[in-house]
Amino acid sequence: MKDEKDIEAELGLREDEDYLCFSHMGGAGTIVCDDCGYQEDIVSFIHGDMSCTIGRQCPHCHAFTVEHNESSEHHKFGESAEDFKCPKCGTVIRKKEEPFLKGNDAPLFCPKCHSPRLHYDLGILT
Ligand SMILES: [Zn+2]
Ligand SMILES: [Zn+2]
Repeated sequence: MKDEKDIEAELGLREDEDYLCFSHMGGAGTIVCDDCGYQEDIVSFIHGDMSCTIGRQCPHCHAFTVEHNESSEHHKFGESAEDFKCPKCGTVIRKKEEPFLKGNDAPLFCPKCHSPRLHYDLGILT
């Protein structure tokens, strides 16, 4: 297992810089790129009565998207009905029956310039 320092070094970040990942975020908000100024409103994780909405980033084209995961039990996660694909480029982001948290520690990148220097302004916390 790599620790955060290794990942930061790999990304070219300084020691005092953090990368963003879904597991460190919550609710819905805005990601802002510190390098190019790109902004996008995204969902990290929102749960409702019957389903939850889970933020995803395509590892191929870096598009942000969301997955809806339906479950009959509150705070438990069902399985996706089918493979989850990036709506932009068709890359399979998550295959069914994988744990929903898998990959949530992966660093997020700016969809425009692919910089890992992003910050997240929380809008809604659920
Ligand atoms: Zn950028
Ligand atoms: Zn994609």
